[in-house]
Amino acid sequence: MTQEAGLYIGGKWTNPRDRKRFETTNPATGQVLATFPMGTAEDVNAAVKAAKGAFEKWRKTPAPRRGELLLEVARILKERKEDIARTVTMEMGKILAEGRGDVQEAIDFFQYAAGEGRRMFGETVPSELPNKACLTIRMPVGPVGLITPWNFPVAIPAWKSGAALIAGCPIVFKPSSLTPLCAAKFVDALDAAGFPPGVVNMVTGSGSVVGDGIVQHPGIRAVSFTGGVDTGRHVYESAARKMIKVGLELGGKNAIIAMDDADLDLLMDGVMFGAFGTAGQRCTATSRLIVHQKMYDAVVDELVARTEKLRVGDPLEDGTDMGPVASPDQERKVLEYIEVGRKEGDTLLAGGAKLKGGVYGKGHFIQPTVFAVDPRKRLAQEEIFGPVLSVLRAKDYEDAVAIANDVKYGLSSSIYTNDLRWAFRAMQDLEAGITYVNAPTIGAEVQLPFGGTKETGPTDTREAGSTALDEFTYWKTVYVDYSGRLQRAQIDTARLAGG
Ligand code: NDP
Repeated sequence: MTQEAGLYIGGKWTNPRDRKRFETTNPATGQVLATFPMGTAEDVNAAVKAAKGAFEKWRKTPAPRRGELLLEVARILKERKEDIARTVTMEMGKILAEGRGDVQEAIDFFQYAAGEGRRMFGETVPSELPNKACLTIRMPVGPVGLITPWNFPVAIPAWKSGAALIAGCPIVFKPSSLTPLCAAKFVDALDAAGFPPGVVNMVTGSGSVVGDGIVQHPGIRAVSFTGGVDTGRHVYESAARKMIKVGLELGGKNAIIAMDDADLDLLMDGVMFGAFGTAGQRCTATSRLIVHQKMYDAVVDELVARTEKLRVGDPLEDGTDMGPVASPDQERKVLEYIEVGRKEGDTLLAGGAKLKGGVYGKGHFIQPTVFAVDPRKRLAQEEIFGPVLSVLRAKDYEDAVAIANDVKYGLSSSIYTNDLRWAFRAMQDLEAGITYVNAPTIGAEVQLPFGGTKETGPTDTREAGSTALDEFTYWKTVYVDYSGRLQRAQIDTARLAGG
């Protein structure tokens, strides 16, 4: 049955009848799951107004008390985990185990962020003058805009909102138009936790009206955006014009380097998980495998054998390794890249086609695909965001690192080796926000910073970990002079120094 969902503004679900609606569908079956209102500029205004109205009280709510509400969200999400995980799988197409992982990440981060309410450390530093205290405190920036993609439809909204809320910032959240139902279930958990009205707001609708509207709204004091590079650039420009803080988590072209001493089985387990988990639609997905020439043939043989054995099918069913890609646009884009590979003369090693008929009939299923590619080819350079892995041959360690770094992105990276020298050099040499050793490019833990460099992360912000607070706070430096007289920093020190 199709659900009729609404907007969440000022602590209330509303379902305005005068709005156009859009559908969200199951990419495995084509079934319509729900319809949502296309938000308008007025809806954005109402949401920002509610957030502004809630700011003063929310920022003055003691952070440990804010943390209690976050813990309550974690508890509610745990209770609803199975239902939300199934929604993730039905709305976005990742297999159920991954749907559960998506929700678990949200639970983990809310638990972690709740603890920040009792930390949120500043510094106390010595003064150069007697009887004077110097310290720093974090200040919430005000109402913030959160704009998210569809590939982690619960975890990414949770990472952003958990950090913003504990910092004391009310949120105006715009989810991807492909996964509004997951977003609505997530916001429903926030609603059930009992945040004061206006602290949490969600407006669904198009990127150009609602997304842009949030970024450009004068009441929004920071924006946290995850999505593609082109959209990110636009958001960055708008935020710069408004002179507000912006956090950007954009695309990736992540590589695993396989050195000649790598454990082949361990490597292949990691490569299959990294490349074809979530049908390759993770920002950290392994989309390049750079293999030392001495290992190349053995790796390619094993890779092809394992890729051909992957079971593609109904993502809700036990035993399925890979579900559909998330949408008709995703399907078109991935198939276009497969065509690019063929036209540019890359060697197709496995897969390379859309799956049709039977269980695949109404869905967007694509075979897990492997190409042997040269480093400057498009498949080796551009983010595909689908189940397509490019294998590249490297002469030695230096060559492998040079190939890994020769892309515009810098999110995740990995090296498989048993030689400590390569492992430690790779930590220093790979241009990426994350480096794994003997593990695939995916697998972030919430208590550590997450983000990239180069075009992946031009703002150098980090989600998760204690660094998540930086997106939503500014530092205030406080001087308390308890000497009872006018003391002049620098000047008085100079006089003292001069005798
Ligand atoms: P998009 O950039 O297309 O969309 C992301 C969000 O931006 C959506 O909510 C979208 O709304 C909104 N949006 C679209 N246009 C505008 C606009 N003009 N102003 C403001 N917001 C706008 O990305 P996808 O949703 O397709 O996600 C895939 C991309 O996300 C990939 O490139 C992937 O690498 C990246 N990603 C990066 C991650 C990271 O942490 N580095 C993590 C996950 C994904 P609507 O849906 O309505 O169009």
